[in-house]
Amino acid sequence: MSQVVNSIIFQLTEAADHPGKAVKDSIDQTGKKAIGWLPEIVPEEIIYAGGMLPVGCWGGETEINDAKNYLPAFTCSLLMACMEFDMNGTYKNLSGIVVPSMCDQLKCVGQDMMVASSLPVIQIVPPANRKIEAGIRFLETEYQKMKTKLEQIAGHEITDQAIAGAIDVYNDWRQTMREFVLAANDHLDIVTPLVRHKVIKSAYFMDKAKHAQLVKDLIAGLKETDKFEFKGKRVVITGIMAEPDSVLQILEENNLSVVGDNLAQETIQFATDVPAVGRDAIHRLALMFANIEGLSVAYDPEKKRGQMVLDLVKENKADGIIFALFKFCCEEEFDYPILKEQFEARHIPTLYLEIDQQQADAEQARTRIQAFKETLEMGQSVI
Ligand code: SF4
Repeated sequence: MSQVVNSIIFQLTEAADHPGKAVKDSIDQTGKKAIGWLPEIVPEEIIYAGGMLPVGCWGGETEINDAKNYLPAFTCSLLMACMEFDMNGTYKNLSGIVVPSMCDQLKCVGQDMMVASSLPVIQIVPPANRKIEAGIRFLETEYQKMKTKLEQIAGHEITDQAIAGAIDVYNDWRQTMREFVLAANDHLDIVTPLVRHKVIKSAYFMDKAKHAQLVKDLIAGLKETDKFEFKGKRVVITGIMAEPDSVLQILEENNLSVVGDNLAQETIQFATDVPAVGRDAIHRLALMFANIEGLSVAYDPEKKRGQMVLDLVKENKADGIIFALFKFCCEEEFDYPILKEQFEARHIPTLYLEIDQQQADAEQARTRIQAFKETLEMGQSVI
């Protein structure tokens, strides 16, 4: 591995592993405020256009104490952790937090935070019927409300021109990340499942323009390196996320590589550009949400997600699929039976893997992943 590649991966991994420090360093160096946002989709561009750093809050491994005073035990582990971090001061460097009501649990967490958080909480409600004109108009009003509240925190107006500029930065980042996941597949020795995850995750805690430049340099470094002929098995992952890290480490230990994903925390974030044309920048952001596909929390009566995952398998010559089902996530549970039927009909080996960010013991995951690897090695038919 070249020194450049090594150094960039190190920088990005540091940001992903120490988000509090990455955000604090950014605040200290730029003087910009930081605004947190909860999963799964928020128009970060409006925050960025306000001269503030958007910070993706996707939970994390922690001991849950105070959050239990607000949330029932069957709350997904991601939101449990976000609530706990809000309570215990982990989010103290943020100047506000945006909570999209993507699911029933997020609706409750947003309301709880309004009462319990010391931060200004901005709740937005994405429409279920997101593709029809009424849904798009509704979302525009939600985004306008979010903009007004962010202006109060920023202390100045957020202009349409500034949002359009932020969209350019974000679309460039999205394009860069799509190139990265393709380039990564020629270097599965360097871009292991954990490294791939860290490169993507680090973007939540860095300025997107800076992150895009680092990833462009990483891609250039990878392209100068001889392609690697990977002898293990290649998998595609679908779900909300593939954390904790122990899950990805077990994949590595079993010589399984991630060659594509349809994870809300990963490729979903950069798969869809904000369209170039719209009534104004806010309308373009609402259109982007209408255009997103393959995300369980973005209502899709046509159920395109299964075919999208199958396409990923074919395009990336994958040997199998991991359905990373997030524990206590109803939206994912609703999608699973439909996807399972589609994958089975195509005879694609599929692993159902329950994901819990706070899982203390990875042994169950280890056993299931080892068994899956053996299934793949038995050479079952793939597309
Ligand atoms: S993982 Fe599921 S339950 Fe948790 S915030 Fe996302 S959609 Fe909601």
